[in-house]
Amino acid sequence: MPINYKKTGKMVIISSPSGGGKTSICRRLLNPARKKQGWRFSVSFTTREARTGEKNGREYFFVSDQEFDRLQKQGSFAESFKVHLYKYGTPREPIEKVRKEGGVMVFDVDVEGARRLHQEYPDAIAIFILPPSIAALKDRLKKRGTETNEQLAVRYENARIEMKTFRDYNFDYVVVNQELNEAVKQVLAIVEAHGCRIENVDEEQLRRITG
Ligand code: 5GP
Repeated sequence: MPINYKKTGKMVIISSPSGGGKTSICRRLLNPARKKQGWRFSVSFTTREARTGEKNGREYFFVSDQEFDRLQKQGSFAESFKVHLYKYGTPREPIEKVRKEGGVMVFDVDVEGARRLHQEYPDAIAIFILPPSIAALKDRLKKRGTETNEQLAVRYENARIEMKTFRDYNFDYVVVNQELNEAVKQVLAIVEAHGCRIENVDEEQLRRITG
């Protein structure tokens, strides 16, 4: 067990174009062992319908347009955005809880959501996941088989733009997801190293060591 001299409550923002592999990476990050250590997934609200296998409250909170707008007006979202054809919002309350009580909160958001979260919480770690190539991304999206041809066309186009422009969104790190295990390893290394940055250590605890 390493000596604890780090501030509690880390935020890890994972973003990538559709098919870039961020959802698989998030799933691996949130394995039972890490959940025990206080890792949590930020469950967003969305107006899109649940896909087969998705469970309300696990992948997303699936809500109506009216409910989403009500929550938004109430200020319940740290950021919200219309991605593709639907609305998505990151709830604020669980973030505040993790920041206060400790743990690691993982966010799976689009590039705009990443930029906004990072802006509001500058100490968050923002990581952009790149597929090894556009061809690989197209292949993954097609194989997933969860979108209609029309939805696929929108996602290809967005992905192409996001891969070209991700430098404008204030990410701290980029990971190329050629092989899932390697990509997860790199993300974990980033999170570990980020916690050791001088500005992220808890001065009070450090002083107990240094006197
Ligand atoms: P999907 O519908 O495939 O689950 O997600 C579509 C896109 O919305 C993905 O890029 C996903 O990362 C993003 N997304 C999911 N939740 C949020 C959120 O709360 N805010 C933002 N900005 N994007 C989100």
